[in-house]
Amino acid sequence: MKFAIYTYESELSLQVRDEILAAATGTTLEYNELDPEVVISIGGDGTLLSAVQKYRDQLDQIRFVGIHTGHLGFYADWRPHEVEALVASLLNDSGQSVAYPLLKMTATYADGSVDEHVAINEATIRNVSRTLVADVYINDVLFERFRGDGLCISTPSGSTAYNKSVGGAIMDPRIIGFQMAEMASLNNMIFRTIGSPVILGTHADVKLVIDDDRHTVLTNDREIMMMDDDDRQLKELKFCVASQRVYFAKYRHNSFWKRVRDSFIGDEE
Ligand code: NAP
Ligand code: MN
Repeated sequence: MKFAIYTYESELSLQVRDEILAAATGTTLEYNELDPEVVISIGGDGTLLSAVQKYRDQLDQIRFVGIHTGHLGFYADWRPHEVEALVASLLNDSGQSVAYPLLKMTATYADGSVDEHVAINEATIRNVSRTLVADVYINDVLFERFRGDGLCISTPSGSTAYNKSVGGAIMDPRIIGFQMAEMASLNNMIFRTIGSPVILGTHADVKLVIDDDRHTVLTNDREIMMMDDDDRQLKELKFCVASQRVYFAKYRHNSFWKRVRDSFIGDEE
């Protein structure tokens, strides 16, 4: 089996990487950076986000495994001392996987240019100094005129990240959909937004028509896609469930809701 390792540059992460490479030597595991079947991410959840972005054009050929070298992660749920068990699982691999939906974002600029991005956690649009004003369309019907700090559009697996901090709901990643959560919306006698997170399904799309992109920042997972100093003027954003999925190698039962409990309530075992 062809595998690659994506490492956060910390001492422990690099040590775990070396242990895996040593354990793989002389086995049927072949290190292949360009065309891997399994990518092992070593670091935190953020490291895994970067690993997925690195391989975003090959997602249907790859399964990811995450080893956390910090605290328990959502995507990184193997521990550093489990290298031996992980290598044994890779050697006995029979293709077990779990698929999570991704978010597709299409950004259209005034000069006619169009960018497409895929997020595993979320995309956000935020205004850093003024009120963001955007007309929100759901399935091409005008839903509301949003005024506030910004909007967070998250995948089901990203729902425990930024989305949760802004009051979004935790979504089971077996649900194929996405959600939009508000950041500090203005609500008074004149301005009105829905005020609660909105969850949408497979065939839905959300379109944001941006009134004025000054002081606006656009993010996709951990990357900034557009800043105020971009020469182009952002006009429109469109969101829907991406056609690609991200696959994780499933070598043992590790339920999403157990991870939610262990991360936010406390480890009961
Ligand atoms: P970071 O500052 O390390 O991320 C913030 C925290 O979110 C870290 O503890 C990270 O875990 C955790 N996290 C990432 N994905 C998660 C998920 N799907 N479920 C639960 N927790 C998750 O920055 P980063 O490592 O570059 O990660 C980028 C992500 O940070 C963004 O996609 C966004 O979701 C999140 N973020 C959150 C806030 C907020 O809550 N106010 C603000 C900005 C960004 P690790 O330590 O294992 O990386
Ligand atoms: Mn991080």
